[in-house]
Amino acid sequence: MNIKDLQNEVAKLGDTKKRSLPLKTREESEILYWTVKLNEEVGELCNDILSILQLQRASKLERFEKKNFYQEFADVIITLLHLAKHTNVDVERAVKEKLKTIKDRYLKRSS
Ligand SMILES: [Mg+2]
Repeated sequence: MNIKDLQNEVAKLGDTKKRSLPLKTREESEILYWTVKLNEEVGELCNDILSILQLQRASKLERFEKKNFYQEFADVIITLLHLAKHTNVDVERAVKEKLKTIKDRYLKRSS
């Protein structure tokens, strides 16, 4: 089976997905937007990390600027804060609670 055969097989299935997302409110749209945006920004950060580790192809390494890495890091944090706002997450509380969980787990293992 080649790619064209696969495309034909998929075409025979028809569109089995819902044609529209069942988002009820503008806030739900915002949450979806910021979730997808966060994934995009994390991908961009991954690209820069690959460049720092010299694992990108030469053409990408030539265009890489370390300044961009810092900006991508900031993009991830800023986008995450937008998502937190729209999902009513208190980031400070969430991080404090998670750090406590990690410390409790780590201290239990090391003692
Ligand atoms: Mg970015």
